[in-house]
Amino acid sequence: MLARFRIGIDLGGTKIEGAAVDASGSVCVRRRVPTPIEDYQATVDAIVALVGGIEQEIGVTASVGIGIPGSVSPITGLVKNANSTWLIGHPLQRDLEIALRRPTRLANDANCFALSEATDGAAAAMETVFGVILGTGVGGGIAIRGRILVGANAIGGEWGHNPLPCPAPDEIPGPPCYCGRSGCLETFLSGPALAADHHRHSGRSLSAPEIARAAESGDPVCRATLGRYAERLARGLASVINLIDPDAIVVGGGLSGISALYEHVPRLWTRYIFSDRVVTRLLPPVHGDSSGVRGAAWLWRSEEAL
Ligand SMILES: [Zn+2]
Repeated sequence: MLARFRIGIDLGGTKIEGAAVDASGSVCVRRRVPTPIEDYQATVDAIVALVGGIEQEIGVTASVGIGIPGSVSPITGLVKNANSTWLIGHPLQRDLEIALRRPTRLANDANCFALSEATDGAAAAMETVFGVILGTGVGGGIAIRGRILVGANAIGGEWGHNPLPCPAPDEIPGPPCYCGRSGCLETFLSGPALAADHHRHSGRSLSAPEIARAAESGDPVCRATLGRYAERLARGLASVINLIDPDAIVVGGGLSGISALYEHVPRLWTRYIFSDRVVTRLLPPVHGDSSGVRGAAWLWRSEEAL
């Protein structure tokens, strides 16, 4: 039976967003509540209440998919790698399945972004899609034929903590990363990293959006900062292309609004890619902030959903 509704939940560090998506992909109901910071049980309760409220509005029981800022260990079933640290070590999927009285699917939020854009977004109908989040942090997810590549360790697509490829002498060892190493892609490509790089080179403190705006209006120092950023992003994405050779790379997160990247990065990445011709496209997202709930909803395919 074709699902009438799927519920997608995007569990974020500051808010939990929930939406009912119908079979055609339209979002019918959307609700958001603040995330109960540092309180695991309250977080579970908030998700259950959100699902209950949405189901009351749509009048039917729906499948539930949840995007989380971390992943579920395939070995222990416990949450790991979450920057919302109060989730770490808890059996979130089991607890939600008991509370919601139905099977529930959880996935990393960057994976949900990739799935959303691969299902009916910028990379709709493309076979292999890499979704990359460039925001406060850096994340990635891989969708192949409309399914997430979770991986044996549930870290498929975790690109941000690889080292920056082909580093120049002044990029070694690179800024320290919270993961314990230095020079991870995240330490060069997050929004705060872009701002820090600008400060290192110019002594000026500007946010990433301010740098992007000033570069657009011709400020030479900001243009140089953005140039370094685009070149580093090109190196980082070239290694993704060399590995999984995606049809498209879709960019999400706050920095996805910098339109110059879509022009410059594909010009810059060719020299690092092991192919005479590169057809991989670098695309802005279609669904933007809705990708979290949409991708979570799509964790259930139409033939499987309630
Ligand atoms: Zn790192």
